[in-house]
Amino acid sequence: MKRALYPGSFDPIHYGHMQIIERACNIFDEVVIAVLVNEDKYNSSDRLLTIRERYRLIKQLYKDNEKVKVVYSYKVGTVQIARKYNCNVIVRGLRDQSDFKMENIFNKVIHDDSDNEIEVVYLLAVDGYNINKSYIDTWAISSTVIRKKLREGNDLRAYCPQIVRDYISRKT
Ligand code: ADP
Repeated sequence: MKRALYPGSFDPIHYGHMQIIERACNIFDEVVIAVLVNEDKYNSSDRLLTIRERYRLIKQLYKDNEKVKVVYSYKVGTVQIARKYNCNVIVRGLRDQSDFKMENIFNKVIHDDSDNEIEVVYLLAVDGYNINKSYIDTWAISSTVIRKKLREGNDLRAYCPQIVRDYISRKT
């Protein structure tokens, strides 16, 4: 049984994340999506959803996918969460050079913290990925961009699914 952890802040979950989840489900028997707190990001005034709201939305999105499990944590680090759920692989999405720089650091931290027990697997984001029969410019999507678009009053249809858009429009 190959179980992978997909950690992130998911504020909110978007089509870029969903592409990685869909592809990870084709490789692994189970994908554990972990909503984790990055203290700096969480306390910033730019935060949109609480951890529990992000967790509930992702659960709702994947309620019919038996391969997906969703968890969240306020305090526990990525390696501890991976161990708790028996994941010896962590999946990450890669877009461009700036992701690559950050991920180099992330990769080293995970290897050091886990004594090389946990492997980080990178899926290169496919731009123009087809989700639910619509073509998505995945490279242009990040949660930060979505929060900015929301502040500017833009439509979020190109960025995240209806369940997420509806929830956000009720909340804001
Ligand atoms: P962000 O706030 O940038 O959306 P997260 O912390 O929620 O980032 O991201 C979790 C994981 O998803 C990371 O591995 C990140 O590289 C990946 N990811 C984020 N956006 C995309 C995207 N558009 N395409 C592919 N992977 C992505």
